[in-house]
Amino acid sequence: MQDHRSAEAVAYRRLYKTARWQRIREYQLAMQPLCERCLTMEVVEPATVVHHANGGHKGDEEKFWSGPFESLCKPHHDSDGKREDLGQTVVRFDANGWPM
Ligand SMILES: [Zn+2]
Repeated sequence: MQDHRSAEAVAYRRLYKTARWQRIREYQLAMQPLCERCLTMEVVEPATVVHHANGGHKGDEEKFWSGPFESLCKPHHDSDGKREDLGQTVVRFDANGWPM
């Protein structure tokens, strides 16, 4: 299981280096240049990472290319994004501090 996961991770790191992914990334950041999770808390923060939304691609190459995508700042991607990719639930809060 552990070996399978890491082999998969290596395969997807390769996809992140393709010109196709670079185009998707640039397009997403052009469409939404601000971190979408910071925005829900009324914080304006430039996004630098394109995250696979809705639980990620889960090894599905079709989903890797088609999305949906989410623009995130690095701190948000490193905390929430990785937990979501591991299948853990991330509770998000809106500007008023209520769980979404
Ligand atoms: Zn953020």
